[in-house]
Amino acid sequence: MDCIFCKIAGGEIPSDILHQDDRVIVIRDINPQAPVHLLIMPREHIASLRDIDDANASLMGHMALVANQMAEREGVMEKGYRLAINCGDEGGQTVGHLHAHLLGGRQLSGRLG
Ligand code: 5GP
Ligand code: ZN
Repeated sequence: MDCIFCKIAGGEIPSDILHQDDRVIVIRDINPQAPVHLLIMPREHIASLRDIDDANASLMGHMALVANQMAEREGVMEKGYRLAINCGDEGGQTVGHLHAHLLGGRQLSGRLG
């Protein structure tokens, strides 16, 4: 499958991987929107949040735990951060492999859309 995030997760495209475990990897966004802008994604190809079901729902909890660990490591835990998942075209998703944006390091706008 021609998926850029699968290629990054599989090591086909060399990237600076900040965290990896059996279920997820974390990289820096190539076009950061804040001083800290990480992408947390499953190793497995899951196209979007729409594809979360009873069988894989625990992945979302794991992504939240990893987000907290990364926020701590990046020094944004105390002041706060945003975890955002875009789903589908109107949700603003441009890469068809589930990922959560971890944004922090500046005051983020209250606007969500
Ligand atoms: P989406 O719009 O799907 O929620 O977010 C996709 C994000 O992936 C964008 O913020 C974009 O900058 C980032 N991105 C796209 N291609 C690459 C890439 O090859 N490497 C990295 N690190 N980030 C990417
Ligand atoms: Zn993929």
